[in-house]
Amino acid sequence: MPAALTELPTRSQVMARMDSARSGDGPNDLGVLLVVNLDRFSLVNEGLGHDAGDRFLLYAAQQINGATRDNDIVARLGADEFLILCEGVGARSGRIIAERIVTAFQKSVTLGGHELRITVSVGITTVNRDMTPLDAVRQALSATQRAKTNGRNQAAHFDSTGSIQAMHWHDLERALSVALERDQFVLHFQPISCIRDGSLHGVEARVRWNRPDHGLIPPDVFIPVAEESGFIHELGVWVLNEALRQLSSWKASRSVPPGFYVSVNLSPAQITDSSLVATIKGAVAAHGITPAELTLEMTETALIADEALMVATVDALAAAGISLSIDDFGTGYSSLARLRHLPAKQLKVDRSFVAGLTTDKRDAALVAAVIGLAHEFGMTCVAEGVETAEQFDHLRRLGCDFAQGYLLGRPMPAAALEETWDLATAS
Ligand code: C2E
Ligand code: CA
Ligand code: CA
Repeated sequence: MPAALTELPTRSQVMARMDSARSGDGPNDLGVLLVVNLDRFSLVNEGLGHDAGDRFLLYAAQQINGATRDNDIVARLGADEFLILCEGVGARSGRIIAERIVTAFQKSVTLGGHELRITVSVGITTVNRDMTPLDAVRQALSATQRAKTNGRNQAAHFDSTGSIQAMHWHDLERALSVALERDQFVLHFQPISCIRDGSLHGVEARVRWNRPDHGLIPPDVFIPVAEESGFIHELGVWVLNEALRQLSSWKASRSVPPGFYVSVNLSPAQITDSSLVATIKGAVAAHGITPAELTLEMTETALIADEALMVATVDALAAAGISLSIDDFGTGYSSLARLRHLPAKQLKVDRSFVAGLTTDKRDAALVAAVIGLAHEFGMTCVAEGVETAEQFDHLRRLGCDFAQGYLLGRPMPAAALEETWDLATAS
């Protein structure tokens, strides 16, 4: 994230980059270009002043950065517009990135004491060698214009035939609502390993949407839509049952390590659903699982919402013997006093801190502090997003209990996990 908006690359830098890619070797398709326009940004600038406007722009740049990869170039295009070049990316991935950006702007933010929701309109075009950088920018801009005239808060794609295809947030919502009955969701499982000996400790279940003609859609694109429409409740029940069904099938056919468990993510909306406890107890019993074999992951932010109901739910789950894990620890605003009262068994250090573990002293201090805090509270600690052997060794030296990340294994289909971890067939 740049320290200031003025540090973002400019449009001419992006165009120069496209020019040099055109003259280099490689495939004809160079990538995708996106234009992100803030809907009704003048409300902020004129209503709340330019300082608030600048703060919102910084926030917007942050949201866009979070929805793109490190090697994508995010530039400032105009007063309320950003230009993004994603090299080596095809049209389909371009659409996924655009959907992710639209999704990132669904939340309202508090600015100068006002709560406001500024959505975005996104235009996408694929870039190839035969077009000039200026043509590419013009195409992306005209697609953005189409997204605006279609009602904003959506993306539109300039396709090879020259026509523009709109993609609605509402389309996403509608497609999502029939996805369950059409059996379009799948779970992937990511290993959680013991740092001491590298053995398999448990797995975290993560949902993906196998959307026809779109490929496998990651959860950060559709979970926010599901949360907003209320569909998350149905989806959550499916995820829980599917994760427990898989665990029970592994237990029947394979020799799983002692203490092996499956961890399932819960959205804030699910935690304040008064029927959640009964649903979970019912699912555990139906699949013949012991409660200790299920862990539920909740973010700090989820645990702040609707205090009384949350406390009742979390206490009831713990009383039923189900383990609770606090996800993305360090990124929310939980007070340490609250942590003392939570019956959680585990803290998960957010991957943004792990990323800087071996290069940034402050990240290293933070990770060490979270591990110490977990242990002082009688909890175990999982480090997320472990990508390098150096990070793994550092975590071992800090006494962290468990690790999760690409170094140990990506989220993968059940069959791939069986192969990688050689879950032996029970004799
Ligand atoms: P999360 O639970 O914090 O998951 C971590 C995300 O980081 C996952 O993305 C995972 O694939 C990714 N990741 C894992 N290891 C590494 C690594 O070493 N490096 C990097 N860069 N990334 C890594 P994913 O699967 O796309 O999930 C994103 C988020 O979507 C999850 O964050 C979770 O909050 C949510 N989610 C996923 N599945 C479900 C679900 O079934 N229900 C609910 N409510 N939310 C879910
Ligand atoms: Ca998680
Ligand atoms: Ca996490």
